[in-house]
Amino acid sequence: MTTPDGPAGDAPATSDAPATSEALEARAAAAQRKAYAPYSKFRVGAAAQMSGQVFEGANVENASYGLTICAERVAVFAAALAGAHRLEAIAVCSDASPPSSPCGACRQVLLEFAPDPAAVTVTAINSLGERRSWTLAELIPDGFSGRELP
Ligand SMILES: [Zn+2]
Repeated sequence: MTTPDGPAGDAPATSDAPATSEALEARAAAAQRKAYAPYSKFRVGAAAQMSGQVFEGANVENASYGLTICAERVAVFAAALAGAHRLEAIAVCSDASPPSSPCGACRQVLLEFAPDPAAVTVTAINSLGERRSWTLAELIPDGFSGRELP
């Protein structure tokens, strides 16, 4: 149960059905309300479906700005803590128009948990009802996967 990656290290299957894209987007919008963004006022929520379960995240800022963490990474790290290591889809909600895509650091973290980046849908939404969508492979082509490591 403590293997670092792959299906053997995933959390046991639960009765949670995979979320629909609409449900995932609703969870991201709900998570946005939990953002701690007193400095930028740029509130972001994320909902990551990993190993069949949904994990929420919101950005958490700090007076030492560089310590701020994005919503996407909060969601993915919550999933990792629960033993869910296979990213299937993620939705991100902000107030940006058009909806903003994940930053470079988050794209790299998403890639870490995506055995098939072309099969992972990344959806960005906002409260205006605008939506953009990509595959993770489109957002981080030829990314560093760790397979290059010894
Ligand atoms: Zn980010």
